[in-house]
Amino acid sequence: MNRFVPRLIILFAAVLLLRVAETAVAQTQSLNSSVEIAYGQKITFRLTGPIAAEIEQIELFINTARAATPLSVAVRFSQDEAQLVAGYDLDPTLPQLPPFAEVTYWWELTTAGGETFTVPEAHFVYEDDRFDWRLLSQEDIIVHWTGNDDALGRLAWDIAADSRETLDRILPQTAVSPLNLYVYPSTADLRAGLRLAGQDWQNEHTDPALGVLLVTAVNLLTAEADLRQSIPHELAHLRLHRLAPTGQLPYWYEEGLALFVEKNNGEREDLVATAVADNTTLTLLTLCTNFPEDGPERELALAQSVSLLAYIQAQFGDQALRQLGAVYLSGAGCEAGLSQTLDLSLAELNAEWLAAQAPQPAWLSFLSRNGIWLLLLLASFGLMGLLLRR
Ligand SMILES: [Zn+2]
Repeated sequence: MNRFVPRLIILFAAVLLLRVAETAVAQTQSLNSSVEIAYGQKITFRLTGPIAAEIEQIELFINTARAATPLSVAVRFSQDEAQLVAGYDLDPTLPQLPPFAEVTYWWELTTAGGETFTVPEAHFVYEDDRFDWRLLSQEDIIVHWTGNDDALGRLAWDIAADSRETLDRILPQTAVSPLNLYVYPSTADLRAGLRLAGQDWQNEHTDPALGVLLVTAVNLLTAEADLRQSIPHELAHLRLHRLAPTGQLPYWYEEGLALFVEKNNGEREDLVATAVADNTTLTLLTLCTNFPEDGPERELALAQSVSLLAYIQAQFGDQALRQLGAVYLSGAGCEAGLSQTLDLSLAELNAEWLAAQAPQPAWLSFLSRNGIWLLLLLASFGLMGLLLRR
């Protein structure tokens, strides 16, 4: 056989495919795909416009980062004089559609002749639209806030940038980029926003799988203190979730770290100091195996978790905290992760941490407070002695 014949066949097939693809594009280009969103109530998808071919079936595909496979639904439609009208109302509380999700959707049309056309995909963010969000987008941090205060957006942006730096130093490498941050005017508004989308708080936390930071600032007077707590805390959870989506991290480490980066742990330090003085601290083994679920014991366990992280940072540096995270992510258990990272048994670490918490003896703290004056006093006695001898 002439060796050109197979090439000719391939060329012919390619041209034919190209023509079919061109026709498909031409068929769908004239169609208008749109979406109308009423947050928490209804999401209406529409496809309208002229199309020559007789349509037999239309499917709508909806996808978010959270879903393993796109949601697909058969769509009702009408076709009069080659004008197509198709629409679908989606229940916005479906678990596949979390609040603030980035949604991708597209349509697939099947003709009576068995051909399939795909209308190019489009995107939207399923954002809480009950507020007129203001926007500050700089680098890859995007702050959304409400109200008349310009300073609030800037404040939240600065705190988010600071928190990111803090976490970069003590966590294994991870990034949430772009980082979308919504500052709600009240906790009730925030929770209503979640509930409208079929979610709620759990233990005063938004689901880190949402991939956005949702916080509250009621007024500018308290905003700074509130946001300096909530932004680093929630960002820590968000990044830990990115690192370990299946939640294999020990609880003391995960919650302890989120509290640790708030840098406002005076009350927790007092709690630990009292427990040390009363000899009622919990063992590290308890933090690992039997973390108290509620009450004052839980508060103490959280305070000790923060204290242990602070101790590791002070004794072994930021690098040890990063290493601890990496070891936990590699699948080490709670106790093994600590002893592998610090090269200490859990009992040894417990003893060393406890020793570091013990209050200084009275003479030592007197000396550290008054050392310079004592030294001056001794020096002046020495000088006086010298003068008197002459
Ligand atoms: Zn937390």
